[in-house]
Amino acid sequence: MSEGSETELLQNFLHGRSHPCPVCGYDLRDLTSDRCPECGRVLRLTVTEARSVHAPFIAGVIALAAPLGASATGVVAVGYSRIIAASGWDVLLRPLVVNALVLALAGPALALWLRYARVLKRQPLARQWAWAAGAWAATAIGLGICLVVG
Ligand SMILES: [Zn+2]
Repeated sequence: MSEGSETELLQNFLHGRSHPCPVCGYDLRDLTSDRCPECGRVLRLTVTEARSVHAPFIAGVIALAAPLGASATGVVAVGYSRIIAASGWDVLLRPLVVNALVLALAGPALALWLRYARVLKRQPLARQWAWAAGAWAATAIGLGICLVVG
């Protein structure tokens, strides 16, 4: 199938029909090209199954990740209890404060990331990767600070 006919199929599908852009949510009714006028992404008409195949996969990831995080927390807790047994509570005050600060920063940062996901998706791909790299850099810096200070 040629590119021209794919664009024609897309335009025919959207002629007189409201449908949100999958990236930014803009109404693509009566689209006149293969690009979203709002975010500029190239669009194409595709055939897909009626039900999402991602939900069971994501549910499985959560099911397997939750015990991973819980058990990692358990391992850390056991390590802390051994330190307390050997040295007393005072030795854990600094790591406790550092971890509380990371929690206080990471929680709102994740909330902002999720809140502005749609805004992020409207940005050019290079800028989206720059924001993702910034998030990873902040995480790496936070981890470094925890390892040095905590
Ligand atoms: Zn769009």
